[in-house]
Amino acid sequence: MEKETGNIKSKIKAMANQEDVFKNIISHSKEYGFIFQSSDIYDGLSAVYDYGQMGVELKKNIREYWWKAMVQMNENIVGIDAAIFMHPTTWKASGHVDAFNDPLIDNKDSKKRYRADVLIEEHVAKAEAKIQKEVDKARLRFGESFNEETFLSTNARVLENRNMIDLILARFKDALNDNNLDGIRQIIIDCEIVCSVSGTKNWTEVRQFNLMFNTAMGAVTEDSNIIYLRPETAQGIFVNFLNVQKSGRMKIPFGIAQTGKAFRNEIVARQFIFRMREFEQMEMQFFVRPGTEMEWYNYWKNARMQWHQTLGLGMENYKFRDHLKLAHYANAACDIEFNFPFGFKELEGIHSRTDFDLKAHEAHSGKKLQYFDPELNQSYVPYVVETSVGLDRLFLSILSKAYVEEKLEDGTTRVALNIPAFLAPIKVAVLPLLKKDGLPEKAREIMTILKPEHACTFDEKDTIGKRYRRQDAIGTPFCVTVDHQSLEDNTVTIRYRDTMLQERVSANKLLEIIDDKVNIKTMLKNLI
Ligand code: ATP
Repeated sequence: MEKETGNIKSKIKAMANQEDVFKNIISHSKEYGFIFQSSDIYDGLSAVYDYGQMGVELKKNIREYWWKAMVQMNENIVGIDAAIFMHPTTWKASGHVDAFNDPLIDNKDSKKRYRADVLIEEHVAKAEAKIQKEVDKARLRFGESFNEETFLSTNARVLENRNMIDLILARFKDALNDNNLDGIRQIIIDCEIVCSVSGTKNWTEVRQFNLMFNTAMGAVTEDSNIIYLRPETAQGIFVNFLNVQKSGRMKIPFGIAQTGKAFRNEIVARQFIFRMREFEQMEMQFFVRPGTEMEWYNYWKNARMQWHQTLGLGMENYKFRDHLKLAHYANAACDIEFNFPFGFKELEGIHSRTDFDLKAHEAHSGKKLQYFDPELNQSYVPYVVETSVGLDRLFLSILSKAYVEEKLEDGTTRVALNIPAFLAPIKVAVLPLLKKDGLPEKAREIMTILKPEHACTFDEKDTIGKRYRRQDAIGTPFCVTVDHQSLEDNTVTIRYRDTMLQERVSANKLLEIIDDKVNIKTMLKNLI
């Protein structure tokens, strides 16, 4: 059998700078059929993307894992699939028509548009990074005797940065809570934030910008026909609360889960699939007895963090961040942030939404949206705890940590996607060593056994080494090679993506070996 080119010597990824790695991930995604710019032949549509033949499989597998973890694993959670179009009053009741805004600011010289709040957040993140740099330097200098806590509370440069951050955040919080747009602009001026293109501080006023897309339903375009493309999937759950509760005879506490498209006319959309104008959300609204919402909020915070960590992307890459300003509907809210190639950013939101939404829909529809609690012998509008994660952001988190560039002992480089095996678009590649001597026929026999169980591919072109590389690049965890010995004793070589190790096994054992690693069941059992 043709030999593969050596062992992994080192990971190149660590030495390349994060920005370059991110660029490589984006071009790799396109080259291997994960993600294409929408309407590519017309030079694309800004912040809209299409998932290709590999991307669609990975996305489907992530969605399935979320869905099963929510709906299959929780006896008191059921799913729905509500329409994207909803009665326009829905969005009046939810507050989106009046308040689903982002503050925007333009640089007068470059004409580049920014989200004012993001400019401030990024300024703060830079100051945080400076503190971290001081800590890292000191740790190197002092070695074993380094005490981070003492250093943070005594070092002059750290304290200066910390004070500055606290001051900015306090002003920012006040400005957000008072809806004080001039105050937000003043922070940008006082912090001397410059435009990354023109390098100047020549800023316009801050204005609010509503993020909802609208369109007209029916033949006549009048105001009354205007409907919105949903900016979140949550409202489809709230308006169906009673339908599901009654038809499913659900008892509180219970949850309704949904995955689907959402649309936001984002002001700034420059980070690949992190911020898109059309994206997919996976949301679960958990209906609880009033007064118990904080207990459930903490429960779901932990449960969601645990779910993320089962993906094996590294515990250190996740953290909670409490919201500075609570949305009009929330009495507690935090984000699970992920360490993307461009820093820690929101991956999932967990919000205690009180009874705001159901009460607002009661008021606007005139229909009672209450639950009769047999234990209390009383009716009430339930409180809601929401978990809301972006499927595309989750995809990006997995892709960005899976992507590795490795130097091999023979001096060549391999690019691999170490996607968690159970999520990989293709689980097994079946490769006849040669295109003759009955090897393709034997390989096809093996395909027939594996195909009904797992996503498989068959490849007989090029050298075996090239074929292994192609599978590494799309994240296929197992390659099965059929050679002349296979014809004699029904054994094959199984080659593992992550270690590049190979072993000879009986073809009859393949399903067992592969199943153990890629079965979603094993992952779900970890959640119990
Ligand atoms: P951000 O602060 O990044 O704009 P958000 O707080 O507005 O996000 P939520 O309304 O809480 O986001 O939406 C829940 C989840 O939906 C987010 O955690 C994120 O994963 C996803 N999401 C929101 N907006 C987008 C977008 N434009 N593109 C991709 N995913 C998004």
